[in-house]
Amino acid sequence: MTAHDEGQIPPGRVSGRAGAQTAVTGPAELLAELTVHDKVLLLTGADSWRTQGAEALGLRPMITSDGPAGVRGVVLDERHPSSSLPCPSALGATWNPELVDELGAALGAEARSKGVDVLLAPTINLMRTPLGGRGFECFSEDPVLTARLAIAFVRGVQSAGVAATAKHFVGNDSETERWTYDARITERVLRELYLAPFEACVREAGVALVMAAYNKVNGVAMTEHAYLLRDMLKDEWGFDGVVTSDWHAARSTAATALAALDLAMPGPDGPWGGQLAQAVADGAVTPEVLDDKVIRLLRLADRVGALCLPGGDDPPGPPRAPSGNGSAASPHNVPSLADPALPSFVDPALLRRAAAASMVLLRNEGGENALPIDPATVRRVAVIGPNAIRPAIHGGGSAVVMPAAVSTPAAALGEALAGQAEVTVAPGCQTWVVVPEPAMGSLRDPGTGEPGLRLEFRDRDGSLLAAEHRHSTALAWWDRVPPGIGWGQAGRIVLVTLFRPDTDGPHVLGAAGVGHITLSVNGTVVAEGATPVPSDPVEAMTRPGEIRATARLEAGQPAEIRLEYRPAADGEGPLAVRLGIVPAADEDEMLAEAEQAASRADAAIVVVGSPPMTESEGFDRSTLALPGRQDELVRRVAAANSRTVVVVNAGMPVLAPWAAQVAAVLYAWLPGQAMGEALADVLLGRAEPGGRLPVTLPAAEEDCPVLHAVPQDGILSYDEGLLIGYRGYDASLTTPQFPFGHGLGYTTWAYESLHAATAVLTAGDDLDLVVTVRNTGSRPGREVVQAYLAAPPDPATPPRVLAAFGAVTAPPGASAEVTLRVPARAFARWDEDAQGWVWPSGQFTVHVGRSSRDLRLSVPVRQG
Ligand code: BGC
Repeated sequence: MTAHDEGQIPPGRVSGRAGAQTAVTGPAELLAELTVHDKVLLLTGADSWRTQGAEALGLRPMITSDGPAGVRGVVLDERHPSSSLPCPSALGATWNPELVDELGAALGAEARSKGVDVLLAPTINLMRTPLGGRGFECFSEDPVLTARLAIAFVRGVQSAGVAATAKHFVGNDSETERWTYDARITERVLRELYLAPFEACVREAGVALVMAAYNKVNGVAMTEHAYLLRDMLKDEWGFDGVVTSDWHAARSTAATALAALDLAMPGPDGPWGGQLAQAVADGAVTPEVLDDKVIRLLRLADRVGALCLPGGDDPPGPPRAPSGNGSAASPHNVPSLADPALPSFVDPALLRRAAAASMVLLRNEGGENALPIDPATVRRVAVIGPNAIRPAIHGGGSAVVMPAAVSTPAAALGEALAGQAEVTVAPGCQTWVVVPEPAMGSLRDPGTGEPGLRLEFRDRDGSLLAAEHRHSTALAWWDRVPPGIGWGQAGRIVLVTLFRPDTDGPHVLGAAGVGHITLSVNGTVVAEGATPVPSDPVEAMTRPGEIRATARLEAGQPAEIRLEYRPAADGEGPLAVRLGIVPAADEDEMLAEAEQAASRADAAIVVVGSPPMTESEGFDRSTLALPGRQDELVRRVAAANSRTVVVVNAGMPVLAPWAAQVAAVLYAWLPGQAMGEALADVLLGRAEPGGRLPVTLPAAEEDCPVLHAVPQDGILSYDEGLLIGYRGYDASLTTPQFPFGHGLGYTTWAYESLHAATAVLTAGDDLDLVVTVRNTGSRPGREVVQAYLAAPPDPATPPRVLAAFGAVTAPPGASAEVTLRVPARAFARWDEDAQGWVWPSGQFTVHVGRSSRDLRLSVPVRQG
């Protein structure tokens, strides 16, 4: 069913674009059939991911799903895999809206095939601090780059008939105390930085939903923020979609309703329901305010095809139920969106191409360039580093999906060089924070003998309620709790497997989950204990407590491992349990082995970075340093091999104090399931590392304009004003290690000319630029031409800001022209006194170049 089939609410019948009291002529008669009780039912979720349906309206429940790097669906379960895309900071590094649009459309198609109507993405907060736990989920530290990519993402997703959600509105730029902190931000800073991507998504992409964040802004909870939600988002910008709460972020009744929150998620409990009906009865909330929310929800349903008005014929709507009988909650016979004819997964070739396009070549030295590596010129390649074997393909929290397969750097390079060069693999050091999962091939279900494990659900007396075969030791229940778990049931989950070790000797076993855990090996309890209950429920999935034990195992001798887990709080909130097993290792030996492998090789590729799940929703990082002994590993490998190429596998900046000592540095982000293949393509020159930094890489932590985001007495003051990211470095004349916008690619470029359409700009006009660049290298390439605008000096104004960008491709020796449009808004600033945009007169300078610190040409423009 398409979004606007006959019989549904055509957009033209909704009069008036904006306002909390949108007038509607179409469904008004349907609304009239609903009681206040029916209406309030619709406005709170039916469960974790579904909205309520209403047969009287021909409305089926809509299914929401995270998220920004893949669409999970309603379960996080290896039996229902999802495509894992490069994380949003990687997409930010592509500086390529067309590619992001293509990925968005593919993600939308996968969402539809999973029955998902509403994708809870994109995240368009800004990378205010490089320590921000969810920075990997954002596109950039810059609002213009964020906005251009967010528009592309939203358009792509929505072109597939799926609604996108711009989140988290607004000021959710860090995680520490995210549920409660009060971000103090001036209106100028809000308007010019943090709101800009949201405004762009509303005005230019028609985003269907906006998610109100957990935090407060200037003293008011975002779900209650009448000024930002109602006056600005809806009335001023004309947002006609649905404002949903972040999950459990709605914590009051009338204040949220009046501030123009439309949907409280998840459900079925929450502060609305009967209390909202009572607020309407008391007159605290008017019926018009309530109706407006219902109309917005219906409009959303119409957009995604969840509304089949009686009389509509594609597909026939369900019979209309009698009114006033609570029918809003009996939706299950309304057809769902799941469309098996649509592709279930994003094309793997697209995932691979996108990951390669996001990789940023930061440095390429070493006599001749160290990269790309011509396989014909190397006999031995050492692939080193913890992330070569256990890469971080995505960040933690709601961005997690379970891909069907992951290509690791070690495996993919081994395959790509097979028959050409000998590949040795050495992890070099250990960085894991939770004991890694064992390879599935080393586990057998004791019942069936199949690879994997047996999972049992037992009641409080130990009797078996259900059992299943699984092939992952990281298990989660996010939608519904399993049998035996739930209020008052006190059951437990039992995971049993036969583990066949590859090596003799001590092995570390880890069992994680919020609750009480007992771990046994061959019938002997080796560890038992309770783990702490985190204050943020999402941490039950992102970093649950782990109990550990060491057991001596014999190579080839299967050992029965049994994990018994009794969830705390009877399984309220997301529930997860995991088992890890890893041979105990001596790090000194690991380092020496890696050094030796490097010294024998013609090239050493060292993959370092964040251990899986350490960049995550729910908490900020505490340092930018690479965890464990990775800096030492890089230095020792570089001393042993002059062709050392370091690949950084991290979603956000890390310190690279060794950068000048290695031949090449490639930033690979959290690249999704295609990591290894994409990396092999780039390292071996089959693809250009097309990325440019969407975030500044600092030389030292103290250089960051904003480092820690720890609220003081609950308050997070955005005292730096507009000076985040490169703007802050430019204002303080600090040299970053690698600047915003930097990325070498595999060819070189000359900037030949820059023409501005006018030297005198009328206030309120856009400015067109034409830039000519020439490929001066020996390979074809893609250049991202960046235009920065310097405004007339003003102490609060950054020296230069990104105003426009565009890309060209050219073969060696050829020139190419790129046309850029600097929007009028780039020449404006928000005037706090006038409460409006002003266009200051005076001299501006437009600079164009390869990064924020490599500006090649400039032209003055006077604003009249
Ligand atoms: C996150 C949102 C996410 C929601 C549902 C929240 O904790 O902040 O980004 O969409 O959970 O998973």
